[in-house]
Amino acid sequence: MSKRDFYEILGVPKSASKDEIKKAYRKAAIKFHPDKNPGDKEAEEKFKEAAEAYGVLSNDEKKSHYDQFGHAKAGAPGFQNMDDIFRNFGDIFGGFGFGNFNSQQPQQRKFKGRDLRIRISLTLLDVINGVDREIKISRLGYCDTCNGNGSKGGNSLKPCETCRGAGQITTVQQTIIGNITQTQICPACKGAKTFFTEKCDICNGLGVKKEDRTLNLKIPAGIEAGAEFIDEGGGDAPGRVGKDQGVYGNLHIVIDSVDTMGFERRGMDIILNKNISIIDAILGKELEVETPEKKLKFKIKPGTQSGDAFRFKGQGVPSPISSNRGNFIVIANVIIPSREEFVEGEIKMIEKLGKSKIFKDDCFSK
Ligand SMILES: [Zn+2]
Ligand SMILES: [Zn+2]
Repeated sequence: MSKRDFYEILGVPKSASKDEIKKAYRKAAIKFHPDKNPGDKEAEEKFKEAAEAYGVLSNDEKKSHYDQFGHAKAGAPGFQNMDDIFRNFGDIFGGFGFGNFNSQQPQQRKFKGRDLRIRISLTLLDVINGVDREIKISRLGYCDTCNGNGSKGGNSLKPCETCRGAGQITTVQQTIIGNITQTQICPACKGAKTFFTEKCDICNGLGVKKEDRTLNLKIPAGIEAGAEFIDEGGGDAPGRVGKDQGVYGNLHIVIDSVDTMGFERRGMDIILNKNISIIDAILGKELEVETPEKKLKFKIKPGTQSGDAFRFKGQGVPSPISSNRGNFIVIANVIIPSREEFVEGEIKMIEKLGKSKIFKDDCFSK
């Protein structure tokens, strides 16, 4: 499934300010609002698309992640339905007369199960090559015996008397500035609209039961710790509402940490700090180092200093959005031994060497 660019959807440049993004979203939301386009599926899709774009671009963290990785499902909210959108961004419609979408069409409301979150760790090699991970998760799935509503046989439900089967209760309060209408989830049935008279033996009336799920996650190369993947519908089923009234929550898979395998990662570059003997630094030498993937041979020149960098282009971390790769960089760390480490004869040699004009005080001042 190819997704349109979030900036393109809202019609703003990448440099747009928060305010410009908000304005652009409000414009799109009003244009494609379901109240203005009743029964228009295309408008509804555009409305959802704009909400998803705004969900990412209005959040600093998600925006910067999106700017870096694009549509790696990087924290995109993935709205299940219109109610989700209104729940998230209802404030943006303030003053536009669209505030009552929820209460006008309560029959559209679906109950969403809990979102689940798991954390996984990668190695630097996984980040370089990309990796397929098998994710095993235990979650709540619908009970098949009762079709998820918790009643024996799945169909002996009776409407809740408190809310008369609406799932929510509307109260009108008279105040000096006019009537204030408040809608809340029915406290008796907790919004489920119905009660069962006899409970399902299999799930003990819960409507859900534990199930194990396995999912294969393709992790692209170049990912960083903190990245999040969303498996829509991979979370828990909502209890006691029945399959037709509920939707699964989402599963969030968070890259918790990346084991850098003794290297240091700086963006797309991989750094190796390599200890070098003072003799090799003076004379130069062919050295061998190991990258996360392979062995590399290279020559250090005579007179190598601590901090000198040897750069191997294109041997670092791949970019998640282009075919570029960072560099592998070896930084020389010249080790200077102390007097105690030498035996007597060696000290004499060093003292003799110290008489060379190279080591006269003024040679270091130039
Ligand atoms: Zn059941
Ligand atoms: Zn009720």
